Amino acid sequence: MTDTTLLILGASGDLTRRLLLPGIGSLLEREPDRPVRIVGADRADLSAEDFGGRLTEALTEGGASSEVVDRLRDSATYYPIDVTEAADLGPVLEELGDTGRLVLYFALPPAVTERTCRAMVGMELAENVHLAMEKPFGHDQASARELNRLVARIVPDERVHRVDHFLGKSSVLDIMALRFANRMLQAVWSAEHIESIEIAYDESLALEGRAGYYDHAGALVDMIQSHLLQVMSVVTMEPPAEISDRELRDAKSAVLRATRLWDGDPATASRRGRYTAGTIGDRSVPDYLAEKGVDPARDTETMAQITVEVANQRWAGVPITLRSGKALGQTRKHVVVTFADVRHLPAGLTGPDPKDRLIIGLSPDVMELHLTTNGTSDPLALEQSVLRTDLRQAELEAYGEVLAAILDGEVILSVRGDAAEECWRIADQVLAAWRSGAVPMTDYQAGSPVPADWHPALG
Ligand code: NDP
Repeated sequence: MTDTTLLILGASGDLTRRLLLPGIGSLLEREPDRPVRIVGADRADLSAEDFGGRLTEALTEGGASSEVVDRLRDSATYYPIDVTEAADLGPVLEELGDTGRLVLYFALPPAVTERTCRAMVGMELAENVHLAMEKPFGHDQASARELNRLVARIVPDERVHRVDHFLGKSSVLDIMALRFANRMLQAVWSAEHIESIEIAYDESLALEGRAGYYDHAGALVDMIQSHLLQVMSVVTMEPPAEISDRELRDAKSAVLRATRLWDGDPATASRRGRYTAGTIGDRSVPDYLAEKGVDPARDTETMAQITVEVANQRWAGVPITLRSGKALGQTRKHVVVTFADVRHLPAGLTGPDPKDRLIIGLSPDVMELHLTTNGTSDPLALEQSVLRTDLRQAELEAYGEVLAAILDGEVILSVRGDAAEECWRIADQVLAAWRSGAVPMTDYQAGSPVPADWHPALG
């Protein structure tokens, strides 16, 4: 394994502490011999010891053992620099450049990431330099394209890792095995047999003090533009000849290019909502607009839904609904594939014939197959039986899985540049319709379920 230096730009920030360092910690618990060391850079005026203390805290909170903590802390270094200044960053890259692989992780606000990239254009970078870019990648299709062009002036795309940790979720990886290694499912995976698909990530979490980020993003950009469209591409892509970065990402990009809003109309194909005050369990949640840091003028949604069609031979005519919401009383995090009715139900079997469904849980990782069976009291009356199993519990959290690929220099679990642009193409149309007032904001009380007319897949 190549010696890898992970240079975290924005090493004193929230993402580094809450997700990145715990992710590295869990990876090293699984692979204690992985040759990786952490170098921090941030404008926070910290000494190497201060940074070591923060590393220790974040890794320990993330559940890392003392062996892993000691190893990472003892090999860590810290640079208190302005990363947007070539005169600061250049010498650091030069100093670290000789060692194995050098991964620059941009754990920075998006505008700072862009300024840092501009500062890097023209620097002579070694061939071992990789860039890991956090979401959001751009803020619309045009800016994502611009950022892609900028990044291409620094390193080739096969060394750019656009992070979407949903691609490292074990249940999302399981979708590939289910689809491509089961003859039974392979045979029915098309509009011929599938009536609709729902991909939902409905959370009970509310804003949790993240207004600074969330009030600018909203549910559509935070969840659908990135994570759920990525999951959709795995559910609907053509079977690749092999699971390699090229084949997999070609297949995903092809379906994203074919994706249209239902009926081509963002006003009828989308919904938006915002939570009002309520209670979730014993937790009382304030009105979103009254949360600290929220600006009502931004008119941010906390629940978003879009219905799309993948307009190709396999999927034309199948509505695919993507939804995510916060502060909900009923959490549904799943992919629901609803099968079409049988062409002919023999006379004598008495209905109603319940819909057959495959449900893949995104959290918890479970799978359910809802099949129609004979009734318990009347053998000719139809009922539904559910086959349920826990999917494997991954050893690594999704962030750890994605980080493992990045540290190995593999882009297979990263979003390719063209795919990032395609996801924005879809989101941009919806956001424009929302800005024009074509889609009213629905209020929902915190702790309530998704309004019944929002999720047609489950009736
Ligand atoms: P933070 O603002 O918490 O952290 C960014 C860090 O970078 C801060 O320590 C900041 O210092 C530092 N910084 C800013 N400008 C410079 C500069 N010119 N030179 C050196 N250091 C600088 O942001 P987050 O950690 O929350 O987010 C980072 C990225 O990760 C964003 O792109 C975000 O969208 C993404 N992300 C974050 C998630 C999260 O849960 N936090 C989840 C998913 C993605 P200072 O504090 O002084 O400004």
